[in-house]
Amino acid sequence: LVNTLEAGKLPGVIPGIHFKRDDEIVSSPESPMIPDLDALPFPAHDLFKIDRYTNLQPLTDGWDPNARSFTILTSRGCPYKCTFCSKPVTGDTWRARSVESVVQEWKWLVKGLGRHRDRRHR
Ligand code: SF4
Repeated sequence: LVNTLEAGKLPGVIPGIHFKRDDEIVSSPESPMIPDLDALPFPAHDLFKIDRYTNLQPLTDGWDPNARSFTILTSRGCPYKCTFCSKPVTGDTWRARSVESVVQEWKWLVKGLGRHRDRRHR
């Protein structure tokens, strides 16, 4: 978005965003779903104060004071339409990451974020 605005273009050229123009809410065309989830970098856990989020796991509370928990996203999308769900963000088509990619992210988390700054796994 910043690059688009700095280039003097209108934000409507970016798919999948909503913005306000005068008093009107404008929606750009829907963003295409990403079919190959393995092509995405791992989440940038190392770029924010992750310790504030990794000690919130009730299963390890009081058991191991040094335990940390992370969420690993293994797929996106779902063909169903439960009204309470946030899945419209990820689309109607279920796509899975490969086992190798998920295990690689898991190892990256377990072996220490500080030592493995390169989130690209390809
Ligand atoms: S809750 Fe969401 S992800 Fe689960 S079946 Fe319903 S729509 Fe799909």
